Amino acid sequence: LAKERGGNHYQFYEQEMSVIHSRRSACEQSLRTALEHNELYLMYQPKCHIATGKIIGVEALLKWDSHELGSVSPKEFIPIAEESRLIISIGKWVLQTACLQMKKWQDAGMEPVPIAVNISAVQLHQEDLVTMILEILHQNELEAQYLELEITESVSMYNSLSCMEKLTALKKEGVKISVDDFGTGYSSLSYLHKSPVDTLKIDKSIVQDISTSISTSSIIKAIMAMSHNLNLNVVAVGVETHEQLILLERFGCEHIQGYLFSVPLTAQLFEKNYVIHDANASSNAL
Ligand code: C2E
Ligand code: MG
Ligand code: MG
Repeated sequence: LAKERGGNHYQFYEQEMSVIHSRRSACEQSLRTALEHNELYLMYQPKCHIATGKIIGVEALLKWDSHELGSVSPKEFIPIAEESRLIISIGKWVLQTACLQMKKWQDAGMEPVPIAVNISAVQLHQEDLVTMILEILHQNELEAQYLELEITESVSMYNSLSCMEKLTALKKEGVKISVDDFGTGYSSLSYLHKSPVDTLKIDKSIVQDISTSISTSSIIKAIMAMSHNLNLNVVAVGVETHEQLILLERFGCEHIQGYLFSVPLTAQLFEKNYVIHDANASSNAL
């Protein structure tokens, strides 16, 4: 009997695996043509200074509305794009689109802030990453200080001299560097002071634990103390409640990104809320 059950289990596992596998290949297949079919677009989420409510930056977030599969979450398609190396061409498109958009907004009168783009570890290993980024900045006439790269720490990044050299070269040109998902997974504190990082982004899983877990609040306090010593900025991500905001402020965190302040917005909505509005405000003042 046990054997029989084991057999069924195995069959079930096999079926499940084949479902996962076919969904994955369907995604990869559709992703191959997503760019040319205009299925990819960016949403924009502001980061804000708690004390003044001013926007200090904007993160560009990639979205995919597939004709075949409907809307697919980045948590599903980014890993597929990385493994298939499609992230190289998609990542370039994201950089181009984000830089062009920020230039347009600045020209329309938005107070200049950096546009943040998520960069995958695969892109960091890309040979011509530095020249590609500098070219995109040049083509769009965007100053380097208005581009920020968000990088998730990984062992491979710190162990690769060439990755660190690329980040250092970009930083030297004025590009800002942030560590994304900070406090989860691999965080090599020993490397941090040697790396060209400007900002730590505290991961939302930590922020969302803040009011219920004592150990989580000590993690945040420790991050704040360390960032002070290393002269790094900190942004808390995933702030949804007032309670979280109050606690973050109490721990000395000055910048937040999250639904409490704003959900990610389409370019049009972002413009309505923050760009055109700002331009009007300054022209009214004249
Ligand atoms: P991330 O870079 O850590 O981005 C923050 C994620 O948290 C976004 O999810 C955002 O919508 C979400 N978020 C922001 N505020 C809140 C909040 O208050 N509550 C909750 N529950 N969530 C919040 P999203 O858009 O699903 O993106 C997921 C991840 O996909 C990103 O995490 C990033 O790692 C990756 N990703 C997005 N765009 C790109 C891209 O252009 N290139 C690469 N390589 N990765 C990207
Ligand atoms: Mg990010
Ligand atoms: Mg994240």
